[in-house]
Amino acid sequence: MGQKALSRLRFNFGFLLEATLGESRVTELDYPTIRVSEDVTLTPLQGQIEATRTSEGIYIAGVLHSAIELECVRCLTPFLHPITFEIGDLFYYPPHTAPPGEFVIAETGFVDLAPLVRELSLLEIPMHALCKEDCLGLCQECGQNLNEGDCGCEEDNSDPRFAILGKLLD
Ligand SMILES: [Zn+2]
Ligand SMILES: [Zn+2]
Repeated sequence: MGQKALSRLRFNFGFLLEATLGESRVTELDYPTIRVSEDVTLTPLQGQIEATRTSEGIYIAGVLHSAIELECVRCLTPFLHPITFEIGDLFYYPPHTAPPGEFVIAETGFVDLAPLVRELSLLEIPMHALCKEDCLGLCQECGQNLNEGDCGCEEDNSDPRFAILGKLLD
C-alpha cells in the first residue's frame, strides 16, 4: 500500500485576502482517497470547510469525515477505521505575523491543509486498534487468522511444557 504520491490539500484563498473582514467562502471537500503524509492515507476525505477573513488572517472551520487505514493489533489485518474531526484554526496572514508553530497563509494566498488534517486524524487513532470488537486474532501455532475459520490445531499441544512432561511419563 501507499506508494501513491503525496497529495497536497491546497486551496487558494487569495481572493479572501482581498475581501472585507468577515467575508467567507464555503468549500466542499470530496476526495475518494488522499495521502496527506508519509504515514497517513485517508479514504475518503469528505466534508465542508468555511474560510472567513479576519483581521489576523483567515479562520478555517469545518467538520470532515474520513477513514484511516490501521492494522488490527490481534490479527494484523489492515482495516479502515472511520474518523470524524473538526477543524477550527486561524491561518495567519501575512505569514510573518504568525506566532511560532501557528499555521500561515503563504504570500501567494495558498494554504496547505495537509499538515493540520494529518495532525487531527492521528489524534483519532485508538491505542488498541481492533478490526472488530470480538476479533479472534491469530492461532499461536500456525498463524492462521481465526476470523477466517478454525485451523484445527489441537489446543492441548500448544504448550511445549506438556509435551516434555508427556515424554518423562513415558
Ligand atoms: Zn483483527
Ligand atoms: Zn492453528
